[in-house]
Amino acid sequence: MNNDRMAIEDALLTQILESAERAYPLECCGALLGSADGTVTEIWEARNAVSEENRGVCFSIDPLELYRCETEAEKRGVRIVGFYHSHPDAPARLSEEDIKGMIPNMTYVVVSAVKGASADVKAYRKKRDRRGKRLII
Ligand SMILES: [Zn+2]
Repeated sequence: MNNDRMAIEDALLTQILESAERAYPLECCGALLGSADGTVTEIWEARNAVSEENRGVCFSIDPLELYRCETEAEKRGVRIVGFYHSHPDAPARLSEEDIKGMIPNMTYVVVSAVKGASADVKAYRKKRDRRGKRLII
């Protein structure tokens, strides 16, 4: 098992890209569900809980909605292995806020949606190196 790699099927990736295009010009968000080794098997679309005027620049998942997602995932034998969100008319790079909110060893997929079409997608993970320093890969 290679922890630095994320496995995701094309069909699931397409689902994320489509959700970014549908949400445009606002940010979409959701969770990646899958197995303990980080393989993504399901996409769970969430409501962007940020106030309307800020939904174009950031996202937030309602804790209760996340709880429901976790409970249902557990019933189906999967778990939350990461999260995804989109950057309308901005690169698929993590923002300072994104980095602050990252949970170690979870996968974060960021989609750049330019003029309503998904233009780029990148995955990141926060890890600690041997000296305990935080790394984003
Ligand atoms: Zn972001």
